[in-house]
Amino acid sequence: MTWNNMALFFILGLSFHPIVHADTAHNEPPAESIQVPSSVSTPEEYGHIAPYLLITCMDFRLRDEVQKFMELRFGPDQYDELILPGASLGALNAQFPHWRQTFEDVVKLSVELHHSTRVIFLDHRNCGAYKKLKGEACCDERAKETQAHAEQFQAVRALLQDKFPTLQVETLIMGLDGQVETVD
Ligand SMILES: [Zn+2]
Repeated sequence: MTWNNMALFFILGLSFHPIVHADTAHNEPPAESIQVPSSVSTPEEYGHIAPYLLITCMDFRLRDEVQKFMELRFGPDQYDELILPGASLGALNAQFPHWRQTFEDVVKLSVELHHSTRVIFLDHRNCGAYKKLKGEACCDERAKETQAHAEQFQAVRALLQDKFPTLQVETLIMGLDGQVETVD
């Protein structure tokens, strides 16, 4: 939200909040009369299936790009999402070994609840978690950075092959410009 928008929001909130509050208090529609927008999926519509489980980094710079990429590629409402610092690195690293259990638990739940069949690791370039957990030198050149992610992808592929051998695995890196490349 920009400062201008924030200011507008603040002004509108001050001006209209009491009126909105009064209206909804006395005219709240019954639940059965509320129309769900057609763009919102329902369990009946999709059979409660999310074919993909996306593992992404927490980095604030790429939230929009990640969502746009997934929706352009797969359509809306097609994936579960687990956000861990470093994405694939968050799933398996020496400094925070307990994150691995969370990762495995979420994969299991995604499969059980939504019948996910593919885990997509979407790492990104210039990742602070990679620099912090692997050291700055891991990623100070593009080729070394790619290699660092590739090694991590091999490790998480092996982990999933051991724990969830039927799952497909896809390994991707997003640039800060939103461009995505496959790195096996
Ligand atoms: Zn990151």
